[in-house]
Amino acid sequence: MAGGAAAPLRVLVDMDGVLSDFEGGLLRGFVASYPGEPHVELAQRKGFSALDQYRSLREDLGEKIASVYESPGFFLSLQPIPGATEAMHEMIQMPNTEVFICTSPIRKYEYCVAEKYRWVAKHLGPQFVERLILTRDKTVVSADLLFDDKDTIKGVEPNPSWEHILFSCCHNKHLKLQPSQRRLESWADDWKAILESKRSK
Ligand SMILES: [Mg+2]
Repeated sequence: MAGGAAAPLRVLVDMDGVLSDFEGGLLRGFVASYPGEPHVELAQRKGFSALDQYRSLREDLGEKIASVYESPGFFLSLQPIPGATEAMHEMIQMPNTEVFICTSPIRKYEYCVAEKYRWVAKHLGPQFVERLILTRDKTVVSADLLFDDKDTIKGVEPNPSWEHILFSCCHNKHLKLQPSQRRLESWADDWKAILESKRSK
């Protein structure tokens, strides 16, 4: 092979809904805090924003659901998504592969930001704390792949360098993808094949 080693493959992995079970934690927290109020079962979740869906149920439920994820301890208490920590440890060992966690903190960032760091330290370990990117705009981060459960990722860069792989989550399961778009159903699905498909030949 001429030209030396291939460039490393750079992979961004989102946190909420991909590594940590934001939706499960949110529902549990809501039911615990507001036991008498109607809630949305995970199978009924539609759309990225739980706030919007709860608000559409009844206006005041919006601020109640937001109060759950804005509370101290919420982000730290989230459970890992099945298979996520194992996949990350495997991915970081892969030759010629650069793995980063890329996550957008909520606007009320006081607890969220520090707890995201603590969550990564607790569930993934210090080598991943070094690889944590917090940004409200993922389009300006350069990489080959972004695994993310948000259906539409927009920012100032109209043509991000990464291919967005939609990670399946309760709120996006019903969405039909464009022929050019790809999904990862879960960490039991073949994420390695997606990485291999992006390696420079
Ligand atoms: Mg997410």
